[in-house]
Amino acid sequence: MSKPEKHEFQAEIAQLLEIVIHSLYTEKEIFIRELISNAADANEKLQFLQQTAGNDIFEPERPLSIRVVTDEDAKTVTITDSGIGMTQAELVENLGTIAHSGSKAFLEQIKQAKGDARLIGQFGVGFYSAFMVADTVTVYTRSYRPDAQGWKWTSDGKTGYEIEPAEDLERGTKIVLHLRDTEYSEGYKVESIIKRYSNFVSFSIELNGNPVNTIQPLWTKNRSEISEDDYTEFYKYIGHDTEAPEYRLHFNADAPLSIKAILFVPERSTELITMSRQEGEVHLYCKRVLITAKAKGLFPDWLRFLKGVVDSEDLPLNISRETMQDSALLRKINEVLTKRVLKWLDEEAQSDAVKYAKFFAQHGHCLKEGVAMDWAHREAIAKLLRFKSSLTEGESLTSLAEYIARMPEGQKEIYFLHAPDREAAEASPDFEVFRAKNWEVLFLEDPRDEFVLEHLHSFDGKNLVATGKADITLERPVDRSKSLTEEQAKELAEFLKKAFAERVSDVRSSQRLVGSPAAVREPEGAMNASMRRMMKMMGQEAPETAAPKPDFEINPDHPVIVGVERLRHKDEALATQVAAQLLDNAMVAAGLIEDPRAVLGRLNLLLEKLLPNVG
Ligand code: ADP
Ligand code: MG
Repeated sequence: MSKPEKHEFQAEIAQLLEIVIHSLYTEKEIFIRELISNAADANEKLQFLQQTAGNDIFEPERPLSIRVVTDEDAKTVTITDSGIGMTQAELVENLGTIAHSGSKAFLEQIKQAKGDARLIGQFGVGFYSAFMVADTVTVYTRSYRPDAQGWKWTSDGKTGYEIEPAEDLERGTKIVLHLRDTEYSEGYKVESIIKRYSNFVSFSIELNGNPVNTIQPLWTKNRSEISEDDYTEFYKYIGHDTEAPEYRLHFNADAPLSIKAILFVPERSTELITMSRQEGEVHLYCKRVLITAKAKGLFPDWLRFLKGVVDSEDLPLNISRETMQDSALLRKINEVLTKRVLKWLDEEAQSDAVKYAKFFAQHGHCLKEGVAMDWAHREAIAKLLRFKSSLTEGESLTSLAEYIARMPEGQKEIYFLHAPDREAAEASPDFEVFRAKNWEVLFLEDPRDEFVLEHLHSFDGKNLVATGKADITLERPVDRSKSLTEEQAKELAEFLKKAFAERVSDVRSSQRLVGSPAAVREPEGAMNASMRRMMKMMGQEAPETAAPKPDFEINPDHPVIVGVERLRHKDEALATQVAAQLLDNAMVAAGLIEDPRAVLGRLNLLLEKLLPNVG
């Protein structure tokens, strides 16, 4: 046998190893991902040769597998594949030089990474990550070429490496790491790392004789080969859930990017249970190897209810989380995925409205957030919103598009009314004119809705308008003999405006009230009631600056208003008190008085005054 042949590392490799050994401290465990990826690549290349005619292959019957063995006594971890192996020339080429040009740039990057080991795979030098944890790395390898011989490559990762022939090797490559970090010779530790990063590698991985990656990477299979149970099992594994998902989407895209994805919507929102924001749980893979778990930036925040996997071959392998976040590529993936998910949810809504309502009850608040925050997708998300309305029954919901389809001729806008429930909405003075006209009104029970619709502003070219702000007039009744004349109404309005100067900004005779004596109309303003409600819901204090004063509208046809006008000429003080009560009532009805108990005091005084007259 000849003596081992000594080789020097190429200068860049020597520098790289210096950094790998001395300054990369975080996430050292990724060396396992890198070596298993290399093993899987080698197996895949052999598989390709087998499927291409005319290739003579050494040990053609040997199955393609990846074996990992830990030895706590010897302080080693060994990774073996049965792939293409390497000849002596390939060993020198692949494990002694950086073949591609960008090596300088790489060194710069790795220096700047300040200890983040994940960068290492990005430039095709993943193999050297072995030296983060090992003093000595020994590679035994035998090429698939029938006439090749076996080789042993050894290095301490410092100055260079030695190569010598090795007898009786099986096809493929065996890498033995003599560990400095002995924790990686513990089986359970290595198992958890394999499960984390390499669970979906397409060859079976055995650890100390036991299979580790038992879950199949479903997204790489044909949809027709996958059963409902396969999906459910996969979801439970990847989504850490015990129940089946509500919705599932399995899709592949080739252009503009190669993307394979399986996405799930959980049946229940954990946010509704924990009352705190959850993290998206979509994991990013490149060719079945985990790049980032719960990858940030893959989806907009308002899609954080999604769970699943996205695999893109277009990603530079092992791109780091930091680089990932601001990459143009990620933005592109985000854009493709977001569009696809919006389309998917819309299809689900069309195909089963009842099921969709269930989904919406759980995750709708995220979509509402999207409408308020995401300009680019605002209208598409708005399509997915659902509301109760004056024309829906019970708990059933309508979309904005359905509402528009029902709009009668003459109606130009979409109207909404915030109220705690259907009864309150129907009893609101703001609703009267719409009931009289038989125009549909969305009933918003969730305080977010009003805020969201105000932000949305319009849908499909139709303005969204709060009923309280709608400029709609009704034909007055033909018989107005018992009503106030225009002159009387104007005088009363002026009287009340003086009396309530502190509380209202204007008083006028109303064109829109039917059964109610009076109503308030909220002025346009920065901090309006819906924003206050929204802030209160989010647990924030609304700013101290007083809410803008509302306008007070009186119904000149209503007997109470007619009565107040008469009373004021006999007992001005009492008339003012009655009118003040009407104003309070209107404020409560509009949701502008947060504690309705505050108005009870005056009501009792009024009753006291009225009762002696009865007797
Ligand atoms: P990359 O995998 O990105 O090319 P690595 O540093 O991980 O970079 O590996 C360098 C090269 O070494 C690989 O491209 C491959 O040619 C060779 N190599 C590494 N591990 C193996 C293996 N187990 N079997 C065959 N060749 C390997
Ligand atoms: Mg590699």
